[in-house]
Amino acid sequence: MSLIAQRREKIRRRLAKEGVDALLVTDFTNVSYLSGFTGDDSYLLVTKKRDYVISDERYTTQLEEECPELELTIRGPGTKMLPFVSSLLSKQKVTLLGVEAGSMTIDFYADLAGAVKGCQLEPVRGWVEQLRMIKDREEIARTRVACDQARRAFEVVRAALTRDMTELQVAADLEYQARRFGAIGMSFPPIVAVGARAALPHASPTTQQLGAADFTLIDWGVNEGLYVSDLTRILVTGKISPKLRKVYGVVLDAQLAAIEAIRPGVRCEAVDSVARKIIGKAGYGKRFGHGLGHGTGLNIHEAPRLSQGQSTVLKPGMIVTVEPGIYLPGWGGVRIEDDILVTRTGHEVLTSVPKQLEECLVG
Ligand code: ZN
Ligand code: ZN
Repeated sequence: MSLIAQRREKIRRRLAKEGVDALLVTDFTNVSYLSGFTGDDSYLLVTKKRDYVISDERYTTQLEEECPELELTIRGPGTKMLPFVSSLLSKQKVTLLGVEAGSMTIDFYADLAGAVKGCQLEPVRGWVEQLRMIKDREEIARTRVACDQARRAFEVVRAALTRDMTELQVAADLEYQARRFGAIGMSFPPIVAVGARAALPHASPTTQQLGAADFTLIDWGVNEGLYVSDLTRILVTGKISPKLRKVYGVVLDAQLAAIEAIRPGVRCEAVDSVARKIIGKAGYGKRFGHGLGHGTGLNIHEAPRLSQGQSTVLKPGMIVTVEPGIYLPGWGGVRIEDDILVTRTGHEVLTSVPKQLEECLVG
């Protein structure tokens, strides 16, 4: 059985356990996860016996190639999704249907409930997302590719960096190089923030030139086709001021200590605390205003979250970012981010871009 078929088997076991006849998967990312389909606008119906992709004629050929083991139900141009889904449910004699509460609109839920006679809807939460937290070997291999493409793109852009380049040009070059190395795009629009602009954790690139300050924060990641990477580095284009050295040192210490704390059995919030304590002790506690990290996978932000209040326990196969930051309005910000795989014995850092401060000097 393929790894993707095994994922559907796990859903089938859940159906049996919860006494639900079928699950209608309407979150497109969850559909990709359970089917291998890389397209859009399609649902998946997992029943106790078979699985059906519900799509339209734009995707017929792609579905035949990407999901050969799945039954295709393709609606024609004149058929709307709702009557098509309800007729499939009637044919399969589904009387209790699990629906994804996190993705279905209230409209569709109400219409579907009214359209299928004798079928009750049961909102379910997190069934697929919980499976997605633990990556199988194929997902880990693809994430490695995404990390590698991100590194290679960064190296090429970095080697050609000049002080008269703008934030927008650096962002564009990163995307161009990532695509040249085989990525289908970025995981998210890159953040390139010169000097004081780096105090905004989610700054959008502007026409500001790199030479306008001593350092630039770059947060980028690529999508290799399905799986993503997510990194942040500081590049020093001017001189290393004592303040930069100090702030950078605190963030790096916090990041390395938090990574060291990652192993199976540790609670997510405990890893956050390791970094938060170090930053707090250095007097910057109030300047670290976000969680330590997040899971990555088919989406750039997914479970688990490394932050306060998160009692999820780390398990082998989880992939999380570790990205502490210190943001000082008017001066700038430092964040360092890597992607970490939880292994049976501890962890493995999947990203390998140098991060000692001296290694961040450009030119
Ligand atoms: Zn990032
Ligand atoms: Zn991130």
